[in-house]
Amino acid sequence: MHFHILTLFPEMVENGLHTSITGRAVRNGSISIEAVNIRNFADNKHGQVDDYPYGGGAGMVMQPGPVYRAYQYVREKIDQRRTSEVADTEKDAHQNIRVIYLTPQGRVFHQSIAEELAKEEDLILLCGHYEGIDERVLEMIVTDHLSIGDYVLTGGEIPAMAVVDAVSRLVPGVLNNDTSAEFETFHDNLLEYPQYTRPEEFMGKRVPDVLLSGHHKNIETWRLEQSIKRTRERRPDLLSESQQ
Ligand code: SAM
Repeated sequence: MHFHILTLFPEMVENGLHTSITGRAVRNGSISIEAVNIRNFADNKHGQVDDYPYGGGAGMVMQPGPVYRAYQYVREKIDQRRTSEVADTEKDAHQNIRVIYLTPQGRVFHQSIAEELAKEEDLILLCGHYEGIDERVLEMIVTDHLSIGDYVLTGGEIPAMAVVDAVSRLVPGVLNNDTSAEFETFHDNLLEYPQYTRPEEFMGKRVPDVLLSGHHKNIETWRLEQSIKRTRERRPDLLSESQQ
């Protein structure tokens, strides 16, 4: 899986994503993450990429030209890589590539969307800043609008990092334990059961006996009961969703 992030702040996503589990996944080749600086595609020597909004109003808007040229640069690289990879196969090197604009106006990101995106070979993520991006270039290149929740952030970098992180951990080879992404929160619309580790007793609170019993069937039943209880208490909306 190859992630291509178009941003005005590449160091922000690089520092964040080249750390911990996603960083290890980059080093072991399970994923690649390329952050492309939109400012490098400015058409003036000051590197200016934003301007006042037509019609007035607060703030600045990112201009379409630099965003479009940054996109073209990434598309060409992807096409070249795919052409060399598929030279002897029937695969279409120029097939559609999803371009995701991170925006509070998008579909709210969800585990099921992460599962869908994890099937792609390349994902282009576009981060806005200031008041957003000129609508014309969005109409030309964007295939998906994704929000990470109903609040407004200063830029699309943190949302892009959230999407890359959630999608990466579903890519084979990223997590040490292949099953750990399968049985956790949101699987089957349930929150995960409570987890415990050593010591057996902490400040007078003991680990539930069933988890020390070694009886796998009882442990499984207990965990499912806990998942249902926890979901009912904290996210009853998930239970009603699963009944629809
Ligand atoms: N003026 C825009 C509006 O009202 O829809 C908000 C612009 S916001 C200050 C700047 C950028 O941050 C957006 O272009 C987008 O890329 C990103 N952003 C902010 N909140 C976001 C969210 N909840 N999910 C995804 N991206 C977000």
